[in-house]
Amino acid sequence: MFEELSLKIDAALKKITGQGRLTEANISDTLREIRRILLDADVNYKVAKDFIDKVKEKALGKEVIASITPGQLITKIIYDELVELLGGGHSEIFLNPTGATIILVVGLQGSGKTTFSAKLAKRLKERKRKVLLVAADIYRPAAIEQLKILGQQVDVPVFSLEQKDARLVASESLKYVKEKGFDTLIIDTAGRLHVDEEMMKEVADIKEIVKPTETLFVVDSMTGQDAVNSAKAFNETVNFDGIVLSKLDGDARGGAAISIRSVVGKPIKFVSNGEKLENLDVFYPDRLASRILG
Ligand code: GDP
Repeated sequence: MFEELSLKIDAALKKITGQGRLTEANISDTLREIRRILLDADVNYKVAKDFIDKVKEKALGKEVIASITPGQLITKIIYDELVELLGGGHSEIFLNPTGATIILVVGLQGSGKTTFSAKLAKRLKERKRKVLLVAADIYRPAAIEQLKILGQQVDVPVFSLEQKDARLVASESLKYVKEKGFDTLIIDTAGRLHVDEEMMKEVADIKEIVKPTETLFVVDSMTGQDAVNSAKAFNETVNFDGIVLSKLDGDARGGAAISIRSVVGKPIKFVSNGEKLENLDVFYPDRLASRILG
């Protein structure tokens, strides 16, 4: 992801690099082109517009000093604004040092929730947390089975019940955690193919029951504008704390990843970069900005 976007932005910036100085005309031309590149990459319209307006405002006020070219100057302004757009600094998840840490994982079916839950379990186990995975995706037996297999691979136990009541699974898992002395609970919830009222109600109820330390919304970065729309819908109902971008190793155009922080107003906390259980990284806005700007 981002290779094509990165190549196109680079080509646009090369044009201005050859010019002696920054003028209103060459700034406008370059930024118009970059705006079009962002829209082509599926960046949200308003996000692209606001982004370009900010870069333009900064660029117009800048004197080019002899040691740097107009291209370098505008690249630096774009880089700084991109880091800002992606959230500024990185955001950690909060791990409760005393009581149990409860992490609720939500998102649409197929977004990568189960895979992410196992990856996070692996990561936290490596940090010496006593982790329990909870299979609250009760509608698809295959989902419970998948979590059990992944749990085995990362050597983390999986809590599940025969009953078809996700709320009960959630409340029973809390009792189990107390009994067995786990300090970290990762609850994998059910998703549907599209946002629907019943699913949202169930997720909201589970949130109410378990009172999570963190609610993380997992979103498939390959799904473009739909990713941003589902993020908005989930945030309005469950008010999540952070975003996990999954499948960032895919070859989609990357616009959702760029827009989501700004549209939803919640930080991106992790990126999932592949099907292997070690393919999980903390999200750093500056690293992604560097990747996009080549
Ligand atoms: P869930 O329905 O939200 O629990 O989604 P799953 O965790 O079952 O993931 C759906 C599919 O996407 C599976 O085939 C996963 O192997 C795959 N998947 C999940 N995360 C990633 C990722 O970061 N990269 C890639 N390439 N595939 C992923």
